[in-house]
Amino acid sequence: MVPQPPASSMLAIDIHTLLLVSTLILGSMGLLFLVSWWDDRTARERLDWGLGFLILVPGVVLLSLRDRIGDVWSIAIANAIILASYGLLYTGARRFCGRKPGWGVALCGAGLWLFLCRWPMFMERFDLRVIAASVLCAAYCAMVARTLQRDAGGERLPSRGRAIAAFATVGAILTLRGILMMIAPVELRGLASIESSWVTWLGLGVLVVGLICAHFLLAMSSERSNMHHRRAAERDDLTGALSRRAFVTRARERLERAPDAGTLMFFDIDHFKAINDTHGHALGDEVLIAFARLVEEGLGPEDLFARWGGEEFVLFLADRDFVAGRRVAEEIRRAFARLAIGEDERPLGVTVSVGLAAPALTGPDLDHLIACADAGVYAAKRAGRDRVEAVGAPTLATSSA
Ligand code: GH3
Ligand code: MG
Ligand code: MG
Repeated sequence: MVPQPPASSMLAIDIHTLLLVSTLILGSMGLLFLVSWWDDRTARERLDWGLGFLILVPGVVLLSLRDRIGDVWSIAIANAIILASYGLLYTGARRFCGRKPGWGVALCGAGLWLFLCRWPMFMERFDLRVIAASVLCAAYCAMVARTLQRDAGGERLPSRGRAIAAFATVGAILTLRGILMMIAPVELRGLASIESSWVTWLGLGVLVVGLICAHFLLAMSSERSNMHHRRAAERDDLTGALSRRAFVTRARERLERAPDAGTLMFFDIDHFKAINDTHGHALGDEVLIAFARLVEEGLGPEDLFARWGGEEFVLFLADRDFVAGRRVAEEIRRAFARLAIGEDERPLGVTVSVGLAAPALTGPDLDHLIACADAGVYAAKRAGRDRVEAVGAPTLATSSA
């Protein structure tokens, strides 16, 4: 039979191995952040987080040389580097939330540490140093978690809540370490003396949850990039309205959910070519932007507004019936005719023709609805432009300027 090692040694941690593994893992994490920042340089927070994890490497290496190099390097400078790395996690969180990095707060932990190291008793007492480092690092974790939570806005990123929870957990472990050190101070006589102590186990805990933090930070940042790419693909560059393809997909979903609800309207700006020819293409663009802004002002969260192409737009009002929809169409038509555009802010007298269709009258097929609304636009053009028309429901719908 193979002799089994005693139970206590099965759970022992070799501290040098732990520190070496920590260095390798933290370094790889830092590199992953830097590579993902290189791929998307607009995600500047990844650079801060990457540098934050990378500088932990020299910090932990200096710590692990405790028995071989002087205290200034293995205590003062090593921990100052580690605190600066927490500071970088904080600046990254602030950048991610659209704030200035806050370098003063980010570096004050390291500065405070170096200041404390000038005090001989502090340099002699391991317990005091562990308490101070735990409090400072826990404070950074709390600030990262708070920054991510406070500045979430309406943005829905699944990994944000997980990153907050992971940072709160690291903060809690560090706080526990500080409290335990106050209650039952541990003495350090060479690194090997704390090998199986709870100080080392809690250090391992910080490493593991720290890696989880890194994972969720990166995931959160990627989720935001993906969301921006998706949004950009769904939007028209000039006006910010939905693209035609996004409109069709979403309108079909709405109509499947509620086949009788809503009103669809098609807009075609009148004599738009003449506006371009008379005032220039740039002012033509401004007219399109102004029209989109005007319509979007009154939209609810379920409504869909898209640029169909050129000077044509389409709007689906999800919870307005035909009569209410026609009222909205009239309001838009009138407001657009009055709209001041261009440098001298005078109304250009530019108008729009509108075609209306409602699934309650024509059925829920989107292509048919669009064809009906388009027929309304043609009817409006034939009748003299600057009006709202609905083919198939003339008595209800016809109105003119
Ligand atoms: P109608 O009243 O019959 O609709 O006449 P119209 O001049 O509005 O229609 P037409 O289809 O003849 O002209 C549309 C013009 O829209 C032609 C095109 O140059 C212009 N256009 C299309 N896209 C853009 C754009 O992005 N910016 C600008 N400035 N003009 C555009
Ligand atoms: Mg047209
Ligand atoms: Mg037109």
